[in-house]
Amino acid sequence: MKSNRSSEHSERKKSQFVLPGERLGVIEEFVPDSGTYVKDGVIHSGVVGQVSFDLLNKRVSVHPLVQEATVPKVGSIVVGQVYGVQPENANVRIFRVDDKSLSGVFSGVLHISDVQPSYVESMFSVCKPNDIIRARVISEKNQVFHLSTVDKDLGVDYAFCSNCGYALELKRQSLHCSRCGHIEKRKIAPDYGKVEL
Ligand SMILES: [Zn+2]
Repeated sequence: MKSNRSSEHSERKKSQFVLPGERLGVIEEFVPDSGTYVKDGVIHSGVVGQVSFDLLNKRVSVHPLVQEATVPKVGSIVVGQVYGVQPENANVRIFRVDDKSLSGVFSGVLHISDVQPSYVESMFSVCKPNDIIRARVISEKNQVFHLSTVDKDLGVDYAFCSNCGYALELKRQSLHCSRCGHIEKRKIAPDYGKVEL
């Protein structure tokens, strides 16, 4: 049997960059920590990142290069574009969560009972396709996020004329189209037209 005792003691850089599956050590020498996995007694990196050997506590971990993906959660404030409106529901394509842009697309649904504290007769007076809406996630089922605009600061941030598509301007609590003169109704957020997207 060949001895490779000398190489076992070789110094390792603390900020070494590793790839998933890369061998980091064995369980006899280190306790596997976050970002690692063990197979047949050998510790491997589970992510792309920087490996850190804690020689004092004999632990090895890998700090991921790419942080966990941003996804909507119950309680998140999301921004999305309305793409479908039915009498009782509106479908929203969520593209921001808690001020972070999303790489993927998430589906949201706003039900008429979650629009505002008072009664709403029809979803068509709440939002229309292409509107930009800000809402809170109240539940999630099968990757569909159920939204609410009940809170005072939530609702439509940008709306577009259903007649000509022009951006609507807020004047005395109603929305005016300066191109065709159309006047429309929405569940307007207090900072309508002022939010940076
Ligand atoms: Zn118009």
